[in-house]
Amino acid sequence: AAAESLEDRNPATGELLARVPLSGAADVDEAVAGARGAAGEWARVSPLLRMRAVFRLREVLDEHREELARLVTRDMGKTLADARGEVGRGIESVEAACGLPHVLKGESLSGVAQGVDVELIRQPVGVVAAITPFNFPAMIPLWFLPYAIATGNAFILKPSEQDPLTSERIVELIDGIEEIPAGVVSLVHGARAAVGALLEHPGIDAVSFVGSAATARFVASTAAAHGKRVQALGGAKNAMVVMADADPGLMTAGVTSSAFGAAGQRCLAGSVAVLVGEPDEQDRSRELILAATRELVVGDGADPATDVCPLVSPAARERVEREIELALDGGCELALDGRRDGGRAGAELGPTILDGAAPDSRVVREEIFGPVLALVRAPHLDAAIELVNAARYGNASVIFTSSGGSAREYRSRVQAGMVGVNIGVAAPIAWFPFAGWKDSFNGDLHANGRDAFEFYTRRKVITSRW
Ligand code: NAD
Repeated sequence: AAAESLEDRNPATGELLARVPLSGAADVDEAVAGARGAAGEWARVSPLLRMRAVFRLREVLDEHREELARLVTRDMGKTLADARGEVGRGIESVEAACGLPHVLKGESLSGVAQGVDVELIRQPVGVVAAITPFNFPAMIPLWFLPYAIATGNAFILKPSEQDPLTSERIVELIDGIEEIPAGVVSLVHGARAAVGALLEHPGIDAVSFVGSAATARFVASTAAAHGKRVQALGGAKNAMVVMADADPGLMTAGVTSSAFGAAGQRCLAGSVAVLVGEPDEQDRSRELILAATRELVVGDGADPATDVCPLVSPAARERVEREIELALDGGCELALDGRRDGGRAGAELGPTILDGAAPDSRVVREEIFGPVLALVRAPHLDAAIELVNAARYGNASVIFTSSGGSAREYRSRVQAGMVGVNIGVAAPIAWFPFAGWKDSFNGDLHANGRDAFEFYTRRKVITSRW
């Protein structure tokens, strides 16, 4: 129903894929009315039947795995291998949500007084919305959707306006699943106005958000001001600590895939490498990283030879190039220059490595969300931990080392929600919660895992005497 629309283009070829309607309050009203109409009855469906409906969703997504991965590549740009991984991770969340009967079982204590028993049950929150970013157009909606409906809620998805086709296809597949009644899952397109309408709508009980830090903060405060339960996952600046004793193969594979995979457009992207040790050890780590990075091939994500895909749009490339220039103006050394002509659609940018940045400079502290890696140096692990923990973000952090003692020290002291040891992109499997600390997260309950079941249910405690 929206009058205005945005162009959605393939980031590698520039092909026009769709015009995305910029919906506002009227479309949100309609979606909420449909969701409220469906929510009551869906909540009364047996948890076993809801589990089977989610299991059916798992089968349907599995049957369309390759189609969805190709859609992710066309619309968002990432390599097909990466897109397949993303779709696999999304399906994993659906599998985790199938555990619902076990997790939803309540607690009880009988005989707390003469003839008195106490029982805790969990009930759905009602109508819930998720607002998702462009960088994982299949996986992130699936961090929320399967748990929300498994627990008996109606779910409204507002995908990123930059690449909504995968979400649209997933919702279309759900429309074909008999076990999931109409209105239980719906989709609203749009951007800021649609988000504002969702946050203020009295018919929405809970909001899940993933996106940049500033928007996450805005969403968390606005949703809370309107009496909603909210979880808002924000941006990141993830540090990778490279100890001098790191296994060179594990370290270079981990650092390069983390910094440059998906062109740095991941919330778990490692965008700062802290080289630890004596100056000659730091230099050796730098040379290893540079040599491995020079091997990476930049190009269309649909080409199997490509390691580094285009950015999501030419505008994103221009923004990242400006960040590189700012860092150079600030005195950084350009250890590897990835700037190039931008490719067919003007969105390509090669891996860029900046050395010598001050620890508190913008390129070390702020998210760039592109294929840009800043190198900083620390004489020993303590100094590295101090440097990492001074950041405003705390999404993920990684250490590469062959010392169990260093790894143990790091994992216990680092301020981050997700930590990797000798693993570049340490994304927890779906049975564990996913979220960061500090400015990377607003809320209490994380995405995925048990937290998801908690977020989408309200607890009720019943005390009875018979
Ligand atoms: P974004 O914040 O621009 O957009 C996210 C969503 O918010 C979209 O649906 C968009 O339409 C909406 N939105 C954007 N600006 C808004 C505004 N002013 N008011 C209301 N709604 C608005 O984020 P993006 O560029 O799509 O995604 C990249 C960001 O997401 C990065 O910062 C990345 O770190 C972060 N991210 C975080 C995680 C995590 O787990 N913490 C995961 C993936 C991405």
